[in-house]
Amino acid sequence: KNVGKISLEQIDSLSGKSFPLCMRQLHQSLRENHHLRHGGRMQYGLFLKGIGLSLEQALQFWRSEFTRGKVDADKFDKAYAYNIRHMFGKEGKRTDYTPYSCMKVILSNPPSQGDHHGCPFRHSDSELLKQKLQFYKVSPSGISQIMDLVKGMHYQLACQKYFELTHNVEDANFSLNHPNQYFVESQKILGG
Ligand code: SF4
Repeated sequence: KNVGKISLEQIDSLSGKSFPLCMRQLHQSLRENHHLRHGGRMQYGLFLKGIGLSLEQALQFWRSEFTRGKVDADKFDKAYAYNIRHMFGKEGKRTDYTPYSCMKVILSNPPSQGDHHGCPFRHSDSELLKQKLQFYKVSPSGISQIMDLVKGMHYQLACQKYFELTHNVEDANFSLNHPNQYFVESQKILGG
């Protein structure tokens, strides 16, 4: 398995290069707000586990970010650490939870005000999505191709188009169904 393959210091740069938009957005919100609500912690936490963070790394990652905000270390250990150990199957029913697929992210638990989870291609308002894509340096013609796919409700194809445009490949040669698959395919191209 890939546990321990990445270091915490790499996450910022990986998030810009190899994370799909849903995870890039969660990472950015976490860094900005030093907090994520439960839906975001689950979606992002399981993704990070999937790319190889160990339980110890995950605890360190979430603790150091949350304690930069309103949560002190004591509160973190009481209120949040359980949740993270739980994700790794160390508490409760000891289920080893798997990262969410695109279908799960797209179809269940839609984000409400103040949430940052979900699939931006499905859940972001289209003006906001365009702004995000501009901010991430997608060309105007690329943005209009993506928005056409979004309009046709082809969210995973829109995400795949974003992958092709941001990795400079004509054809991604895979059919996207999982955020962790996006990461693996990106790393293959970038030689990570
Ligand atoms: Fe994330 Fe999948 Fe949506 Fe892409 S299509 S942003 S990987 S949920």
